[in-house]
Amino acid sequence: MTPAGPRHFASDNNAGMCPEVLAALAEANAHHLPGYGDDPWTRRAEKLVRETFETDCDVFFVFNGTAANCLSLWSLCEPFHRVICHQFSHIQTDECGAPGFFMHGVTLHPLDTPEGKLTPDAVREGSRTPHGFHGSEPRAVSLTQTTELGTVYTPDEVRAIAAVARELKLSVHMDGARFANAVATLGASPADITWRVGVDVLSLGGTKNGAAFGEAVVFFDRARADNFRRRCKQSGQLASKMRFLSAQWVGLLENGVWLRNASAANRVAAYLEGRLAELPGVNVAFPRQANAVFALLPAAAAEAVAARGWRFYNDVGPGGAARLMCSWDSTEADVDAFVGDLAAALDHA
Ligand SMILES: *Cc1c(COP(=O)(O)O)cnc(C)c1O
Repeated sequence: MTPAGPRHFASDNNAGMCPEVLAALAEANAHHLPGYGDDPWTRRAEKLVRETFETDCDVFFVFNGTAANCLSLWSLCEPFHRVICHQFSHIQTDECGAPGFFMHGVTLHPLDTPEGKLTPDAVREGSRTPHGFHGSEPRAVSLTQTTELGTVYTPDEVRAIAAVARELKLSVHMDGARFANAVATLGASPADITWRVGVDVLSLGGTKNGAAFGEAVVFFDRARADNFRRRCKQSGQLASKMRFLSAQWVGLLENGVWLRNASAANRVAAYLEGRLAELPGVNVAFPRQANAVFALLPAAAAEAVAARGWRFYNDVGPGGAARLMCSWDSTEADVDAFVGDLAAALDHA
């Protein structure tokens, strides 16, 4: 085995499983249990999600975020519908057309609004259908929380968008691949930033929060959950050994581990932001509100730290900023090592 390298800032999916997830998997492995979700781990995980959101929602566990998004949107849309989203949303930029593939003709309607966040006015404008029945009918709006640019919608912002959506008869989907980080930032209850402000269905991220794989789909509008298992089955997303998806959620949600993980990532990102502020010539591109820092680096310095082996994306969102993503296992020491290399690169540039 190669020795463990440093923890990079490429993505929170570079982190391993947190100990509680690994322990839950080991425990789930100790017993012979029924498949396809008919098992006590899945019951326990569903119950924990309901308790977390303080409501009687329908909960499903799928393998990844693309499927969570597309299957939940599929539950809202007919093939002639369209989904309003942000131009930098994961469904628009990072799912290889899966929304159209899963939904047989549903289109996305990307909007260009500041800092990765949709606004009520933009949603209203975007839902116009000038060509009448020749155009796809808007049926859903998809918000990402935290956004792909590392910002966080406040509960009031979500409420205002959802109010316009209601008026226009659009359902509200939330891509919560980093939902835990938003909860940690806002210090609000999960219910207060979802169904209580008008979210109908949530893709709840586990992978980036400390699971090995798997996201949950949470239907607050339970009428929309009809046939969801068949949609999963047909698209290859119904886990036969479901308990290994669901047990991870027991590891995350019991004792608040998910929020501890998210808070840790957010805290290290805040530290990184502070350390970068010491460096002349380095600026932050978007407000740092959760676990991502988007840093505008001089090109030569960005190349130099990349050449030293530091990994990060510079093609997420506009402007070529380095996206520095912290995960549950990121540490201040990782930040210090990176900032040290960056400071040296800036000196030589
Ligand atoms: C990571 C991520 C996903 C999930 O992607 P998969 O690779 O399909 O698991 C979804 N939405 C956002 C915003 C993400 O960052």
